[in-house]
Amino acid sequence: MFPEFTLRFARLPERFYLRFDPVPVPEPRLVAFNRPLAEALGFDLDAFEAQGAAQWLSGNRVPQGAEPLAQAYAGHQFGHFNPRLGDGRAVLLGEVTDRQGRLRDIQLKGAGMTPFSRGADGRAPLGPVLREYLISEAMHRLGVPTTRALAAVTSGERLFRRVPEPGGVLTRVAASHLRVGTFQYFAARDDGEAVRMLADMAIERHYPGLLTAEQGESEGERYLGLLEAVADRQASLVAKWMGLGFVHGVMNTDNCTISGETIDYGPCAFMEAYSPTMVFSSIDEQGRYAYRNQPWIAQWNLARLAETLIPLIDDDQESAVAKATEVIKRYEPHYEAEWLAVMRAKLGLEREEEGDRELVEALLEAMQAGRADFTLTFRRLSEAVEQDAPALFELFETGDGLAAWLPRWRERLARESADAGAIAVRMNGVNPLHIPRNHQVERVIAAAVEHADFGPFEVLGEVLADPFVEQPGREEYAQPAPSTERVFRTFCGT
Ligand code: AMP
Ligand code: MG
Ligand code: MG
Repeated sequence: MFPEFTLRFARLPERFYLRFDPVPVPEPRLVAFNRPLAEALGFDLDAFEAQGAAQWLSGNRVPQGAEPLAQAYAGHQFGHFNPRLGDGRAVLLGEVTDRQGRLRDIQLKGAGMTPFSRGADGRAPLGPVLREYLISEAMHRLGVPTTRALAAVTSGERLFRRVPEPGGVLTRVAASHLRVGTFQYFAARDDGEAVRMLADMAIERHYPGLLTAEQGESEGERYLGLLEAVADRQASLVAKWMGLGFVHGVMNTDNCTISGETIDYGPCAFMEAYSPTMVFSSIDEQGRYAYRNQPWIAQWNLARLAETLIPLIDDDQESAVAKATEVIKRYEPHYEAEWLAVMRAKLGLEREEEGDRELVEALLEAMQAGRADFTLTFRRLSEAVEQDAPALFELFETGDGLAAWLPRWRERLARESADAGAIAVRMNGVNPLHIPRNHQVERVIAAAVEHADFGPFEVLGEVLADPFVEQPGREEYAQPAPSTERVFRTFCGT
């Protein structure tokens, strides 16, 4: 059975959400279930499965103790403020305490039309459900903070999109669904009391250390501390994305979490040939959310969060603005340091030296010129610690830049204390061999959606569960797309 619900969001005043029961679906069928996650959440799996997991995970049955609701939130979408977005197709069943004692949201996505649906159908097509399942779980295994996928069900409904598609429901698990846009929703309504309640909830759930900080700290300092803590988490998160060649694609403020987890796997994709201006999302026409812009978009989003917190930071507005501005400015060096730490590790460097940033940048330039696969370049660097590796050069259309760079890198490696073998092992522990490659993801989705064949989806899930380890017989999964299958455009999946 479901673990016991400890309702938190539902205990906030009514203006934070709309009570809403999932709209039943005709024929729910469980197509993916994350048993290890279910166990970690404290599910009684035997009872749960005996009673028909698909019934619960489709929303056809509401578990005891849950109070399903759609959360209110606003958000800047591509820079334009929308004061009322909210859960248009997701319902929060409630929070549970996992085996580690952490509070976790359980949400059904695709659960039917809510009062926030704004004319859309409240449903989720199976393709995007499977995409989020695969990629969010892959991100978790890659060590990136993220919402998790507990289950995917097919609904037995057909949805009308560009072409008719089968419907699905994803069960999403998150540290919380508090977003920058949740704060914006209330700030836009001049509801300072609500912003304070959200801030208190965020501190309690995600940054409890702020409650035990130095005695005598004022309330204002605590809320400033919240802003700084969120900024730190976002800096660390985006640095991890950058280190994997991940392009989120829709970094609207409603898709920017207070917990620092990645959320919303709509149009995201991992780069193959390295290009800092890479954009995949079909609706990102201006390239606002291009790979290289991501750190600065996160900062922009944090500035929007800061605006909502100003009244809490100091009674004197001018002084509050000055303090918040300081924090937003500090994000920049902080992000740079996080990024450099990620990239140093990718190059097998433990020591910190002056010239490291330049060394990283020189490699990236060579990769760009050579249109080299981002993931495999870093992975195969471990083969080139001591001598040139043909498999590495193979990835580059032009290898001159790489040939010039490798001796510089080896000279730098010579000042590391570990020996070559240990450095290579260390590098293979941070540079994955397996990422969710777009063409693979699209292949397995096509098999599931067009032929109800979930075998390929399961195999890809297994491969991605072990991203740092070579898997004999599954070499093709590590390969970039053949030219006929390259993916340049992704769609939001609504
Ligand atoms: P997203 O682009 O996924 O961040 O979603 C932006 C907004 O659109 C949110 O308020 C969603 O709840 C809403 N939305 C997305 N897809 C649907 C849908 N099929 N039905 C209703 N609302 C949706
Ligand atoms: Mg979203
Ligand atoms: Mg989305």
